Amino acid sequence: MAEAERDGGKGTKRSYDAVIVGGSLAGCAAATMLGRAGARVAVLEKSPDPAAYKRICTHFIQASAVPTLERLDLLEPMMAAGALRPRLNTRTSWGWIEPPPERAARGVNLRRSKLDPMAREMAAATPDVEVMLGQTVTELRHAGAKVSGVVARDRDGVETVIEAPLTIGADGRDSRIAELSGVKVKTYPHGRFAYGGYFEGTAPKHATDAAIWMMDPEWAAAFPTDDGLVFYAAMPTMKRLPEFKGDPQAALIDYFEAVPEAPSLRSAKLSERGVVGKIDMTNRMRVPTAPGLALIGDAALATDPLFGVGCGWAFQSAEWLADAVAPALRGEEALEKGLRRYRRRHSRHLRGHAQMIHGYATGRKLQPGEKLMFSGAARDPHVAMIFDAFGTRQIGATHALAVGTPLALVANARYALRHRGRVGRIGTGVGSAA
Ligand SMILES: Cc1cc2nc3c(=O)[nH]c(=O)nc-3n(C[C@H](O)[C@H](O)[C@H](O)COP(=O)(O)OP(=O)(O)OC[C@H]3O[C@@H](n4cnc5c(N)ncnc54)[C@H](O)[C@@H]3O)c2cc1C
Repeated sequence: MAEAERDGGKGTKRSYDAVIVGGSLAGCAAATMLGRAGARVAVLEKSPDPAAYKRICTHFIQASAVPTLERLDLLEPMMAAGALRPRLNTRTSWGWIEPPPERAARGVNLRRSKLDPMAREMAAATPDVEVMLGQTVTELRHAGAKVSGVVARDRDGVETVIEAPLTIGADGRDSRIAELSGVKVKTYPHGRFAYGGYFEGTAPKHATDAAIWMMDPEWAAAFPTDDGLVFYAAMPTMKRLPEFKGDPQAALIDYFEAVPEAPSLRSAKLSERGVVGKIDMTNRMRVPTAPGLALIGDAALATDPLFGVGCGWAFQSAEWLADAVAPALRGEEALEKGLRRYRRRHSRHLRGHAQMIHGYATGRKLQPGEKLMFSGAARDPHVAMIFDAFGTRQIGATHALAVGTPLALVANARYALRHRGRVGRIGTGVGSAA
């Protein structure tokens, strides 16, 4: 168990092997894995409510994170709580990209109101993991150049010092830990905003699979989830913000009237949570380590939610970190070595994806190379499978482009031959479902 003593003017002082700031998906996954690896872990979460959850999230977990959920033993309880295992279908101006159903990857979808408390219970039930609610971290502690812990304040203003050789920032896209540590951050502008709500009594064409509409540059999605609900989401470009600001509910319903092959929401029942939205979603990519410190989840990489990657990457980055630092926390090697391993793995898996996502996040239209892949995937099942593996984040951009580009060129050439005289340039959408 943690050692506790008094710390001068700062109330109680406790020592652990790792202190994690943020008790959401990334923080609880890392705590569980580190606890199982034999480390003593404190999780500090500012919300005092064990049932707290992230309210603005469409919670589509990509297939890339399914092995992590399985390893955490979380997939089964999620399914028991009503989670769905949807595939992704994408409507483009060239028609639907529908990867062959038997080969298509399946993500997981469960509302955050169920998932977040479940992840927190999982961490709290892990031996040697202590989840402390209602604790807001306000300061980092240092020993020389290394981060050596944090100061947390409870709701009555009582401070606790938590010391640990490893501090983990899992405190989300506006990470205070990242800010306090001064790690380098790159920001990329976001040219869209998001609104959405849960509806009952209407379902998209592919339900219970998910549907995404790339209306270039506008975007919409329908995510069937637990309890027979479907989350309908819109991510229009910023110029349309005034339409939504006045009456988001009416604007969302009107927006879907213009979405091709989408169901009308006019007679569907909106859940009592209503329509929620987020306007500022600046992309942030941070260097995920510093001496004595690691960032996971959105704290390390907060990227455009349009491609639904943040929850999966929160789980996966937690797993990568736990695997990388467990030997050091057992005293088998220097912590810096483990942190270097984590930084390399994070970059290898996510940097390429993030760069492509940040490019499209500006609100621009698709570029020729992207149009080639989208049109090829709509016209050919092999390209659709590569598109699916990339979109569900199971393969990287280099792999997807190397294999997908020649196949997409062939698919488009065949299509052009079949439709001679009726087709304009590849990627114009002429003669398509647009
Ligand atoms: C509109 C929108 C739609 C999205 N849709 C999807 C989607 O479909 N699929 C997907 O994968 N991702 C989606 N995301 C992204 C996803 O919500 C995040 O990537 C994910 O929640 C990140 O998890 P996390 O654990 O890193 O951080 P968070 O879930 O943000 O959790 C951070 C935690 O840290 C706590 N905290 C913060 N500061 C402190 C502090 N100082 N002291 C103590 N605790 C603190 C917070 O209370 C919170 O519990 C969406 C995001 C948005 C905005």
